[in-house]
Amino acid sequence: MRTVNFIINLSAMVVFLGGCGSKHTDKDMGGMNPQFDAYKANFVEEHWKLFPEWASGQGYHKYDSALVVPDEESRQKQSAFAKANLDSLTHFDLHQLSDNNVTDYYILKHQLLSMAWVNTDEKEYEWNPSGYNVSSYFADMLNNNYDSLDVRLHNFYLKMANIPAYYEAAKKNIKNPTVEHTQLGIEQNLGGTSVFEKDLSSALDSSHLSKEEKKKIEARAALSVKAIRDYAEWLKNLKNDHPRSFRLGKELYAKKFELDIRSGYTPNQIYNKAFAHKKELHEKMAVLASQLWSKYFGKQRKPSDKLQLIRQVIDKISLNHVSPDSFQIAIEQQLPMLIDFVKKKDLIYIDPSKPLIVRKEPAYMAGVAGASISSPGPYDKNGNTYYNVGSLSGWDKEKAESYLREYNHYILQILNIHEAIPGHYTQLVYSNQSKSLIKSLFGSNSMVEGWAVYVERMMLEEGYGNNELEMWLMYYKWNLRSTCNTILDYSVHTMNMSKEAAMNLLINEAFQQKTEAENKWKRVSLTQVQLCCYFTGYTEIYDFREELKKKMGSKFNLKQFHEKFLSYGSAPVKYIRSLMLDEMEKGKK
Ligand code: ZN
Ligand code: ZN
Repeated sequence: MRTVNFIINLSAMVVFLGGCGSKHTDKDMGGMNPQFDAYKANFVEEHWKLFPEWASGQGYHKYDSALVVPDEESRQKQSAFAKANLDSLTHFDLHQLSDNNVTDYYILKHQLLSMAWVNTDEKEYEWNPSGYNVSSYFADMLNNNYDSLDVRLHNFYLKMANIPAYYEAAKKNIKNPTVEHTQLGIEQNLGGTSVFEKDLSSALDSSHLSKEEKKKIEARAALSVKAIRDYAEWLKNLKNDHPRSFRLGKELYAKKFELDIRSGYTPNQIYNKAFAHKKELHEKMAVLASQLWSKYFGKQRKPSDKLQLIRQVIDKISLNHVSPDSFQIAIEQQLPMLIDFVKKKDLIYIDPSKPLIVRKEPAYMAGVAGASISSPGPYDKNGNTYYNVGSLSGWDKEKAESYLREYNHYILQILNIHEAIPGHYTQLVYSNQSKSLIKSLFGSNSMVEGWAVYVERMMLEEGYGNNELEMWLMYYKWNLRSTCNTILDYSVHTMNMSKEAAMNLLINEAFQQKTEAENKWKRVSLTQVQLCCYFTGYTEIYDFREELKKKMGSKFNLKQFHEKFLSYGSAPVKYIRSLMLDEMEKGKK
């Protein structure tokens, strides 16, 4: 058995936050903090008992052999847990908690409210058949090397026991599902059976298990596959004359936005901001495209239509890209350059002891994303951080060319800023130092994505790319993507936007390729609110920075702002904002 490392590295905590050394008041040491810390530790442990699959995904493997049957009883347990803990929270006095614990308090409260709400109001368990799928849990057990293969296979075997009951409960839960989620549920479940056939059998081959044990596992895997196929078949034959719309509707959307995004803005405010921002971007892009026209098109006549003009210049600039086999090398070579720039401009401290390793995307992740960051979970602090780069080998010429135009010379650099430095990777190193398991587990996605989107603009404003017109134009195009994600999500789910209108927005106003736009339409019909997190987080961070600049005048220091901002871990921006403003007020007295 592997003992899970709960101890958080405190020595690394003497963080490099210039100017905040005096911050630690008595409140940080005493008050109700010891009780709250004990409460949190217990909370997490109890939470994992309710959500063992989630625990495994976070690198906590104590409950690997468990699979929860998603029936009424398990929902009751979740609701009771949420209720009891919301009650426990009321016993803590916020004035007696440190900043770190105040943000944890709010994060927990949101988490619990959300846990209750999904069962009582949202009821996704009724209308989303793709929410039932066990294959990824089992794939993780085969792919991740956290324990010996034999131990993992043993847990794999135990976990499979509940698969038939799991799908029986799913069938009982489903009522009037959406067509889109039904289709996805069929596809993904059938696709997942390979885990129990192909993947399992090659894992068994490399294991040291006896013949009998292997047979036992294979027999149970066959039953599991049968349960999965039965479920898919059941979905195919399901009579559903008046399916629910995939559009969430205004009321549920507003609540989901409140619980998931945890923003200081309402969805409507964010939508209006995104809409105005899109207009601004178009104006700026038209000016740049006009300036660049003769460089790329000589004496050719300029289109009078603004959007046409922008599109043509963008298409031309996109031809500047790397070759398919140097995609990974190009990324590797850019990272030291980004670090140098950040240092030279004194933008934020980057810890050299936590390197980022660029690697080819592992096979089991293939096709998910062109580039992504794999971070060590909160239970594996010394694990490596990887920058996974998708390989283009085996792609046909046309597909590779279109991809490389999308991730052209300019966008590739912005992507590296977003994913790596000083984006996700840098934020993550800081977040891991914020000594809060709560923030690592239940932190704000909108803060995390918002930070990565914020630094794209920040880097360019600081002169990255030498203010080349092409760089700015491409940046604006990239920024239009997250801006239009928000417009799209809100319009589709609360204002009945048609597919035709959505395509027009993405292709003609955000300059996307048709396949990209089609994929986005699919995503917006399967998810709700999630597409808003980029623009919302970005807007909140940027607005807050400008607010502070105004307040502090010449005392404002960008590096200090960044380090201070990240020191709260992945907390929702609105809480970081209020804590930082509070501290400033106190500092004045
Ligand atoms: Zn080309
Ligand atoms: Zn991101």
